[in-house]
Parts: sequence; structure tokens; C-alpha cells
Amino acid sequence: MLLIALASLAVAGLVVGFWLWWACAVPTSQFFGPALIRGPQEGKPIALTFDDGPASPFTEQILAILRAERVPATFFLCGKSVEGNPDLVRRIVAEGHAVGNHTYSHPLLPLRSRRRIAAEIDRAQDVIEKVVGYRPRIFRPPYGARWFGLVPTLRERGMHMVMWSATGYDWKKDAPGIVAATLQELKPGAVILLHDGRETRPAGQVDRSGTVQALPDIIAAARRRGYEFVPLEDFLPSS
Ligand SMILES: [Zn+2]
Repeated sequence: MLLIALASLAVAGLVVGFWLWWACAVPTSQFFGPALIRGPQEGKPIALTFDDGPASPFTEQILAILRAERVPATFFLCGKSVEGNPDLVRRIVAEGHAVGNHTYSHPLLPLRSRRRIAAEIDRAQDVIEKVVGYRPRIFRPPYGARWFGLVPTLRERGMHMVMWSATGYDWKKDAPGIVAATLQELKPGAVILLHDGRETRPAGQVDRSGTVQALPDIIAAARRRGYEFVPLEDFLPSS
């Protein structure tokens, strides 16, 4: 009897654990409130996003490719990295790209208090506003991991949560792997996740050469398939 009770408890624990992992970390989960995962599908629009920057020289290299190809993108910045690279952030905005909030120090948000989550968001908003002159309206949680209190905190600030529907897994794949993975998940309305930095690590501890190398091939292959790169803004509710 005890054995059965213990076994049931273990199974229940596994189920709850799996559910919690799904709710927090799977990009398409909406358990913690509404998030933009994918945009409208008419006309085959897709939007490119880069997280964890800015990080020299990779952000500059990505900007050069985007300029040459006339592709708009959105950069989800970490406040700490913005402080170290204000000129690079100004350049992102000057070249017509959008910036979003990716917290100040890139912590895992699950298990943190609502106050701590709000402090991470606000500190990044302050730092970004100081450099570009406005407070971003979009937020992406570090590691895509969400928690209680995050959505109400964003709502209070008039901000939208943005996840993604396609990624090149550029934190673990080489350039050909990044291209293949991105194209495999590409669908009309896709929000593509790539990285120009790594958490808030300083230059020298970041290598995004694989992403830089993959980007022209991703752009060319997506266009051959009839996709059009649009600003992420197009996927957000207007207001
Ligand atoms: Zn990140």
C-alpha cells in the first residue's frame, strides 16, 4: 500500500514537474499570460530578432549584413550590455532597427519575486531610455523562461511579451546547422530568434561568428521561398 502511495506521488511529481517546465520554458506556452509567438500569415511575412547584445564585433557585423540586404530586425538588449556599448545601441536605432528589453542582467526569472522581476525590467528600461531616448514596448524573458508576476508587470508598463516560433539554435550549432534549423522551423508569420551576444558576457567571452556566417544564407534562402522580412512591430497589436 505504502509502495503504491509512494509510486503515485512520484508520478504526480513528474507530471507537475513536466507541466511547470512546459509552462515556464516552452516558447509556445501561454500559461503565464499572452505572448507574441508568431505573426499573421498572409503575405508570408517573417521577423528577425537578436537577443543578448550588443556585443562587439558581432553586432556590427550583423548590422552590416542587415544594411546590405535591407532587412529590418529587432534587438532584445540586456541593460548591462547597453551600458558597455551605448554607441552600438545608438547605431542599431540609427540604422532603423527596433530595440526591446531583455532584462538588465539576464537572470532566470522563475522562482524570483515579482519585485525582483520588475526591478530587472525597470533597470533595463532606464538604461535603454538614457541611450536611445525612449522606453521599449517589447520584452523577451531570458532563456524564454516566464514566471508569475511577469505578465502583470509588463501590462502595467504597456509592454508586450515576445517569444519566437523559429530559431537557429545558435547557442549550440555551427553556421550550416544554424541555417538548416532556422529554415526547418520557418513558417509564414515566423518570429526568428538568433543571438548577437551571450547573456551579458563581456567581449572576449562571446563568439557569435556562427550566427554572423549563417545570416546571409538564412536571408537568401527565406527570400527564395517567398518570405518577406518585416519589422516585428507589424506583428504587434496597434495602439
Ligand atoms: Zn537571452
